Amino acid sequence: MTGQALDHYGAVEAGKAADLVLLDRNPLKDIAATRATRAAVLRRQNRWKGPTMDDSEYFLTEAIALARANADHGGRPFGAVVVKDGAVIASGVNEMLATGDPTAHAELGALRAASRALGSPDLSGCAVFASGHPCPMCMAAMRLSGIGAVTYAYSNEDGAPYGLSTAAIYADLAKPFAEQAMHIRHVPQGEPELYADWARKQQAKER
Ligand SMILES: [Zn+2]
Repeated sequence: MTGQALDHYGAVEAGKAADLVLLDRNPLKDIAATRATRAAVLRRQNRWKGPTMDDSEYFLTEAIALARANADHGGRPFGAVVVKDGAVIASGVNEMLATGDPTAHAELGALRAASRALGSPDLSGCAVFASGHPCPMCMAAMRLSGIGAVTYAYSNEDGAPYGLSTAAIYADLAKPFAEQAMHIRHVPQGEPELYADWARKQQAKER
């Protein structure tokens, strides 16, 4: 992986390669730790002109490298990075098998790490680059957190032969509740003030 990533950095002058050295050891750990990207290097040199297709490909390469490294460590082949202002601020890999957590998807891990890094659940202004087509859970989490753009490399069609597609869930979720595979019930309760009480408490706090 590292050779591939460093090749992407080939355009950056050799003299500035110190920014990139971190990538040349344990990719899983170092990509998560490093904030150095081609864009960040260019910004420091006042040569940053905004994200380019080349940067998109670089961020996807990072996500795929994370996916590969995760698979090499016995995990599922998914990785994701969160990018803000042209730099990677957080990353994640699929940790379902290691943690037994069915929600430990790469994108969710990256969102959690980005929120920690920014000190806020609001991730507007950020973009996600994922190795694979995000599942509906991760797509919804990105929407809820304000992520403005997502780019992925491997499609559901790519994943389908290996049981790595969520196309069927997307199709099911697009149906009315009554027609979906999961039994969804709305059972109203005699607790009408739940939301109103919350709103009053929020207002009291603001005063
Ligand atoms: Zn997911």
